[in-house]
Amino acid sequence: MLLLTPKPDEEETSEIKEFDLGVIGMGPSGLTASIYASRASIKVACIGKDYGGQMGLALEIENYPGFDSISGIELTDKMREQAEKFGTKIVYGEVSTITKTEDNLFLIKSDMGTYKAKALILATGGRHRELGVPGEKEFIGKGVSYCATCDAAFFKEKTVIVSGSGDAAATGTLALSDVGAEKIYWVSRSNYMKCEKIYLDRAGHRKNIEILFNKQVSEIKGTNTVEEVFFSDGTSLKTDGIFAEIGIIPNIELATALGCEIENGLIKIDDECRTNVSGVFSAGDVTSKIVNPLSRQISTSVGLATIAALSAAEYLQARKTIF
Ligand SMILES: Cc1cc2nc3c(=O)[nH]c(=O)nc-3n(C[C@H](O)[C@H](O)[C@H](O)COP(=O)(O)OP(=O)(O)OC[C@H]3O[C@@H](n4cnc5c(N)ncnc54)[C@H](O)[C@@H]3O)c2cc1C
Repeated sequence: MLLLTPKPDEEETSEIKEFDLGVIGMGPSGLTASIYASRASIKVACIGKDYGGQMGLALEIENYPGFDSISGIELTDKMREQAEKFGTKIVYGEVSTITKTEDNLFLIKSDMGTYKAKALILATGGRHRELGVPGEKEFIGKGVSYCATCDAAFFKEKTVIVSGSGDAAATGTLALSDVGAEKIYWVSRSNYMKCEKIYLDRAGHRKNIEILFNKQVSEIKGTNTVEEVFFSDGTSLKTDGIFAEIGIIPNIELATALGCEIENGLIKIDDECRTNVSGVFSAGDVTSKIVNPLSRQISTSVGLATIAALSAAEYLQARKTIF
């Protein structure tokens, strides 16, 4: 994930800053919720540790309405600028704890300071799932990566494996092909790929991509860097690296600690994006509305974030607590 260096005027401070709404996460959900809420004159702090979240990792987005093609960082810039234009305070930081006070406020502790908010939107998305095989941890940064779109450029004229069958694996494989990797083995542990058909068709036409099914990674070996990857069927491939693009783990820890109900590993929300904890709303990939991994999209996140922001506005209005 892309970590941002805080700007000089954002040094950690002991002063507790007060907001109407604390939005946790700076992906498309968090930024969209911030745009809607701040445009409704709600005082918003949007706190996130990775600029753009997963969207920030996308090299090229071709399915976000209104844009033929745009990079994830460009789209993040546009959303962040729009949120700031309406008054959102953007905080580049990691939230460690959130506690509910006796007067029904939320105390948000982060490495950039402590914030108090009357309502919360949890837009914490997900992080990469690890393979969990011997050699993986040892070779992280030495041939093992979790983001092909971020690290593809290091594999020009090299041989590389992409493990995974979803859209992130597909777009990562194509990115490696684009940068001129000599050979890309795109491996799925089952006998199919889960990604959109358009990606599979594109990969099928590339000379440097070979698609292999029923290949579950069992071990990664090398000396200083990755040299060979083994599979549970007893076969192996010589390679300079491996990208594990095998899915996303939802970031539910803050929600769990707050007492939010979890359903199938995701934050349970109702049709208005409310959690079971009064004043706490949630949106995007981390919510129970996104059950099918293929539904993890910028547009679905943005839609849920809109609902979450409008519900939070209604909640704040009902309490007549807007500053
Ligand atoms: C490589 C790649 C390519 C993709 N391409 C496309 C595409 O072309 N089109 C498309 O529609 N979708 C695409 N997606 C999927 C899309 O990016 C996601 O569905 C979307 O970003 C989810 O948005 P979100 O805001 O819910 O969560 P995320 O984008 O995951 O954002 C969550 C944010 O919360 C932050 N966070 C979590 N915990 C904390 C904490 N404790 N403190 C502070 N911050 C925290 C994270 O750091 C992150 O900034 C792609 C995803 C990847 C990985």
